[in-house]
Amino acid sequence: MNLNELTIKQAREGLDNGDFSSVDLTKACLKRITERNKDINAFITVTDKLALAEAKEADKKIKKGEISPLTGIPFSVKDAINAEDIRATGGGKILDNYIPSFESTVISNLRDAGAVLLGKTNCDAFGHGASNENSMYGPVKNPHDLERVAGGSSGGSAASVADHMCLFSIGEDTGGSVRQPASLCGVTGLRPSYGRNSRYGSMPMASSLDTVGPFAKTVEDVALLMEIMAGQDDRDATTVSDEVPIYSEEIKKSVKGMKVGVPKEYFELEGMEDETKEIVMKQIENLKSLGIELVDVSLPYTKYAIPVYYVVVPSEDSSNMGRLDGIRYGVQAEGKDLYDLYAKSRAQGFPEEVKRRIMIGTYALSAGYYDAYYKKAQRVRTLIIQDFEKVFESVDLLVTPTSPYPAFKIGEKKDDVLAMYLADVCTTPASIAGIPGLSIPVGNTKSGLPVGMQIMGPRLGESKVLQLGHNILISR
Ligand code: GLN
Repeated sequence: MNLNELTIKQAREGLDNGDFSSVDLTKACLKRITERNKDINAFITVTDKLALAEAKEADKKIKKGEISPLTGIPFSVKDAINAEDIRATGGGKILDNYIPSFESTVISNLRDAGAVLLGKTNCDAFGHGASNENSMYGPVKNPHDLERVAGGSSGGSAASVADHMCLFSIGEDTGGSVRQPASLCGVTGLRPSYGRNSRYGSMPMASSLDTVGPFAKTVEDVALLMEIMAGQDDRDATTVSDEVPIYSEEIKKSVKGMKVGVPKEYFELEGMEDETKEIVMKQIENLKSLGIELVDVSLPYTKYAIPVYYVVVPSEDSSNMGRLDGIRYGVQAEGKDLYDLYAKSRAQGFPEEVKRRIMIGTYALSAGYYDAYYKKAQRVRTLIIQDFEKVFESVDLLVTPTSPYPAFKIGEKKDDVLAMYLADVCTTPASIAGIPGLSIPVGNTKSGLPVGMQIMGPRLGESKVLQLGHNILISR
């Protein structure tokens, strides 16, 4: 096995035993990036010199026995999350030259724990998309089939882990951007509860839904990462003060006697493919052998998640995108007056989808339509939240497919906006409700494409979500 193929846990053991150094491990990842990134396009920026310098430092620390959980472990970060002094485009040309002077809390937590930064990963511009085709730096290709999408918007992060260019990655999930690409690329990805991890230093899209979450090769690794990432942050007032559980211990508990709900609506959603449904159903049936009780449940408001999402998100989005104006940050176009400068900077700096969201959001928030759209959507959002609260009175967790289908062909949905929006039909409900969702790989289609299963839990119920995910992966 090549060093870059190791899990975090395996690499930790190898580094601590002196079987290899962090420089060896980092070089193995950088070699893989050099070989594969030209085809996959997972990275926008590779920080190779910095990574090697950090790896050397890590080796010194390991020699001295000053070992933190991630000392010497190489990782990648979505380009919409800031690392100090490293270019962060967010996948949009309007920030092509942006170098943040500050670091996201989550990234500094991971780097303080010793992780080695390899670079910044490609993504749909500022999180807008489900296929990575809305990146202004070209689409990310799926490592399992280069003609197919990696998913989005954190596709570069998912592909970089799936293709073993790094040991883990950090992405952002507003409506599914960690879970959906994790599913399409065959890796594990967690959207934490809203408020569990700080969003300070990550580029905002829809502030009442945005979360920062990890991608890794195993649930065990995800659990470890969450221990380091999570917690209250004075710089993000939405973070909660609840103590961060020792997830890596929690996941070892037995799942015997757990009650897991199977919400029928998810299996009847628009576009749900039979093969995906069968693979996920087979895994669900297998849960019985772990001593789990399966319960048929209903979440009647599920079908309103996409309509609610596509009113609430563009509304918040239109205001968040307002700061990208060619003046305060990034690339400024030449303009004959102020209006012309704004118009040209944005026309050149944003892809179609971002412009579409700004227009929808501005319309939905306008005085004449606010009640009809935004307020109505917020009311239905409450009903979706109540749907989940009610169901979690009788079951511990819920299981569903993560995506209605495996990775689709590049170009297949690009010009059909609604079809692209429906790619997130299974992931938007948890986003709207602020609850955690984990995607784990549970099988492959006949043509070899990975299929993911989503595990959802009550708010701040990450421990149980990860516990079930871990028990499934080790029983497979
Ligand atoms: N695909 C969804 C969208 O375009 C989700 C994006 C996200 O989670 N950042 O809004």
